Amino acid sequence: MSDKTRIVLLAFDGFPFYAFGRINTPNLWRLGQEGGYSPDGGRSGLPSTTYPGFTTLLTGMSQSKTGVRTTAQRPGAVPGWAGWDRCLVPTLLHAARDAGLQTAAVMGDQMLQRVLRLDDFERAWPPAGAVPPGTELDAHGYPTNAAIRPFVLEAAADRDLDLLFVHLNETDTLGHDLGPSALATMECVRAADAIAGELFDQLTPDWDRTLIAVVSDHDMVRRLPFPAIDPTTSFECAGLVDDWIADGCAAWVRLTSGLDAHMAINRLSALDGIESWRWREPGILLLLAAHGRTFAAPWIPVSGLHGSVATTRTLAIVGGGHPAVGRIATAIAERSPRLQDWSPTLATLLDVELPAADGLNLLEQAELESAG
Ligand SMILES: [Zn+2]
Repeated sequence: MSDKTRIVLLAFDGFPFYAFGRINTPNLWRLGQEGGYSPDGGRSGLPSTTYPGFTTLLTGMSQSKTGVRTTAQRPGAVPGWAGWDRCLVPTLLHAARDAGLQTAAVMGDQMLQRVLRLDDFERAWPPAGAVPPGTELDAHGYPTNAAIRPFVLEAAADRDLDLLFVHLNETDTLGHDLGPSALATMECVRAADAIAGELFDQLTPDWDRTLIAVVSDHDMVRRLPFPAIDPTTSFECAGLVDDWIADGCAAWVRLTSGLDAHMAINRLSALDGIESWRWREPGILLLLAAHGRTFAAPWIPVSGLHGSVATTRTLAIVGGGHPAVGRIATAIAERSPRLQDWSPTLATLLDVELPAADGLNLLEQAELESAG
């Protein structure tokens, strides 16, 4: 076989960060011990939700370039003033494919696949963004980890693949429905780790040319028994909000035009349950809820929440026998990598151009640290 680089990017949706360790995730733990990991995890952007997280992860770009700012979708708001419902720029997978590399994706979220524009990707599961009839689905209508396991292992066995992206969704569904520390969520974490172990075994024949990056898109916190926040209902904030859209424990707000923005931000950020805010562009504000609080929405998860500062921690593990593993391990042990740092790093290893990426190349960072 050749000695060309092989990259596997393994992503867990909504992985409860605290569960990473020797007991619950022995396979991920071993990979991290032999390679490296960020003890405090990586960091997602805000809102810390699925669609913005994965578009940033797979493009290396901030939301201003990907256009994807929220996981919630409502015509008028999304696509509209709160962003786009599909990524505006090519992902690392598209760039690798266009550079002539063998690239595949196996995903446990057909909606996310569409957001990432991987639904028309030649080597993607589910094929053409449609889950085949008879596939076992979880309570939210997504393929279970057990259902996509055979496709993950089949892709990993293809020694011609240069880049494989795997997305396991089920930890997110159970975290939302039962809570990030529920017994059944922990069982799901252990089962997901077992699939990771089988995946790593499948990669051993070409271990020396393989680099595995393990990430997640956001953390999860328990929902506390407070009323959901609606920024339009308080007397102090009357008339301030032209439109808004909740995204878990974050919410995009479009201010009424012509307002004194300083006054509007002061009043909105003083609302009960608001922890902080971000200003992204004129007239548009991201409100962030306090720990365990959430915003009013047509559907609110029963037990687990994400979207705010409290859920920005992600898995950040690197392993495999590739010579670059040590350098990335050094970089992520020193400083929590952001989601946008992974694609520029992996692109460099694959010799693929990602000229518009905003993230840092973790390989260069390791060199800077060893020089300094
Ligand atoms: Zn997610």
